[in-house]
Amino acid sequence: MKLKKLLFVSAFALTTGLASVAGPAANDAKMNKFIDDLMGKMTLEEKIGQLNLPVTGEIVTGQAKSSDVAGRIKKGQVGGLFNLKGVDRVRDIQKIAVEESRLGIPLLFGMDVIHGYETVFPIPLGLSCTWDMAAIEKSARIAAKECSADGINWTFSPMLDICHDARWGRVSEGNGEDPFLGARIAEAMVRGYQGDLKDKDEILACVKHFALYGAPEAGRDYNTVDMSHWRMYNDYFPPYKAAIEAGAQSVMASFNIVDGIPATGNRWLLTEVLRDQWGFDGFVVTDYTGIYEMIAHGMGDFQTVGALALKAGVDMDMVSDAFVGTLAKSLKEGKVTEEEINTACRRILEAKYRLGLFEDPYKYCDVKRPAKEVFTAENRAEARKIARESFVLLKNEGNALPLKKSGKIALIGPLVNTRANMPGTWSVAAVSEKYSTLLEGFQAAVGDKAEILYAKGSNLMYDAAREKDATMFGREIRDNRTDAEMLKEALEVAAKADVIVAALGESSEMSGESSSRTNLEMPDAQRDLLKALLATGKPVVLVLFSGRPTVLTWEEENVPAILNVWFGGSETADAVPDVVFGDYAPSGKLTSTFPRTVGQLPMSYNYYNTGRPQKQWFSKFTTSYLDCPNEPLYPFGYGLSYTKFQYSDFALSADSMKEDGTITASVKVSNVGNYDGDEIVQLYIRDMVGSVVRPVQELKGFERISLKKGESKTVTFTINAELLKLYNSKLDYVCEPGEFQVMVGPNSRDVEVKSFNLIK
Ligand code: BGC
Repeated sequence: MKLKKLLFVSAFALTTGLASVAGPAANDAKMNKFIDDLMGKMTLEEKIGQLNLPVTGEIVTGQAKSSDVAGRIKKGQVGGLFNLKGVDRVRDIQKIAVEESRLGIPLLFGMDVIHGYETVFPIPLGLSCTWDMAAIEKSARIAAKECSADGINWTFSPMLDICHDARWGRVSEGNGEDPFLGARIAEAMVRGYQGDLKDKDEILACVKHFALYGAPEAGRDYNTVDMSHWRMYNDYFPPYKAAIEAGAQSVMASFNIVDGIPATGNRWLLTEVLRDQWGFDGFVVTDYTGIYEMIAHGMGDFQTVGALALKAGVDMDMVSDAFVGTLAKSLKEGKVTEEEINTACRRILEAKYRLGLFEDPYKYCDVKRPAKEVFTAENRAEARKIARESFVLLKNEGNALPLKKSGKIALIGPLVNTRANMPGTWSVAAVSEKYSTLLEGFQAAVGDKAEILYAKGSNLMYDAAREKDATMFGREIRDNRTDAEMLKEALEVAAKADVIVAALGESSEMSGESSSRTNLEMPDAQRDLLKALLATGKPVVLVLFSGRPTVLTWEEENVPAILNVWFGGSETADAVPDVVFGDYAPSGKLTSTFPRTVGQLPMSYNYYNTGRPQKQWFSKFTTSYLDCPNEPLYPFGYGLSYTKFQYSDFALSADSMKEDGTITASVKVSNVGNYDGDEIVQLYIRDMVGSVVRPVQELKGFERISLKKGESKTVTFTINAELLKLYNSKLDYVCEPGEFQVMVGPNSRDVEVKSFNLIK
């Protein structure tokens, strides 16, 4: 009987020519016929079952846990599962679906493979600071290879929520504040995960969280979002749209409201924008219990919110059990239509078909793959390279960095000797025992050339209860000694050292989901430790861990060197010494503005001018704060190197451009310092006059170049009408004639400006 079912599936594959190579239209016709035939055999319950995505396995990201998954699979009540780790287990469960459910429809297996699998890359915010699209694509490719070797065929990534407010903990999971850069990263990630979805290491991407999840009021997770459509289209939608255009096959609805309706039940968003305007042809999944949560949003009872979600355009219900629990009843009562259920079911079956699961349900279940393909030396070498590209050197007074591999180097801080904190938030497949601590990494880097001393120095924060909240998932690193004992030990160690490396900042779970903060300064215990270390008079460099832009105003004034290393992934322990000792010159540049104080938030470099722009701080009746400049501490695009880059010969190829023409902006960049290095050259524009207001600056190009000591290169950007377009008040996407400023420089602040006219 079991064998018969398998044979049925593969015989079906053969007769419908699933394996044949044909053009897209012919393939679509074949797929449609296959799905028509299959749906012709399905009961209503089986169709609704395809729309159900319960969670299973030990990785649980929310409150609910489903029970008796196997029994439900046999009854055809499950379309996919997520966060189950281990190819053997995935294979066993797939076998149940294929052999023991009536029609043998294979399951999707999803997981939050957000920045790598067991080989972990930097958190996405860090990754974005590389501005290296090839590296970012490669990180997604490697993540797809590793997780697909372990049974996963669908990742809940890329996360493309633009964020202007570092209080929001999930700023760590996104690509910063810029829609243009966010869109390029979106394309790179989708390419990296999906390829052309043919090979066994190419998996479905999932664009999330659609939409605007990164703009909650007060930076508090899940909170109200409210903005004009004009703002959505210009500033927040571009990365999602770019991912759809790159072919992303699934989209996750966000938890927040959009226009007063939860995204999960918002037909305008999930159908009109996503499908009608952008042509999305994949499927929409909710976020974790997204449908159920609409009850708390006040949208109605369980049955009502289930129907609302389906009618809005949701195809798959993550964890709520609302579709399996209520849709049959809603159909009977005329609250949803059979066509709506069929449409959603078809979309899930299409995804399975495109993945090739009907052809081979075990395509992703080769138990021999993990040993050969997961956490390989090659993947780890790539992760180490990308990690060091992601670090941003914020300050380096008197060339305090790099350090020499000699003498006595004291490594001090609560993040020096922890394994679990290295990969960063949302690394659910990470195996921290496999990763080194920073202490081990430094020891390996210096060998017997220098002596590494260590003291923990402080806990993360003084308050034990707050520290526990900030270090969930068993990643507690609290020490039972008193604060005074720890400080005393640190000062004794510091006294013996020639130089002090203070490794401080956030723990990995102080950012990420449900980790909003109102105070973004260095946690109290660590700030006191840092002060005490500085008071020794020894040279101190700060290696700063963080999952967000933090407030470093005090550190900027008091610490000679600050290297922001985010959470660099599984290879952090080696990548940090690579940079600290100058084997690699830092090259990362910020993709989100660092405020001077949390009171400036939300903020971003691409703000709109007011009618009363500030001329200087403080000038009455201009847009100002009484107690703080408007400018950030570190601007978007900022980051230092050990070497020096000089910009010269900035020129535009013409002073006017027709709409169907182009203009080029070129600039010579010279490495005039003492190290080889990489520079990220940035191009911004400003549309000086429009039918709607325009940002004071918009990133429109960037290029990462490598320059040997003494070398120069001319970087040329081509500007065309596409780069000058905006969404006007009718939401038409147009470019408007008039003056444009073009700015080129090493960051958004230190730019040279020239102008041209766009002529219709
Ligand atoms: C998060 C999503 C994630 C999902 C599944 C939710 O809590 O918001 O980003 O993909 O859980 O784990």
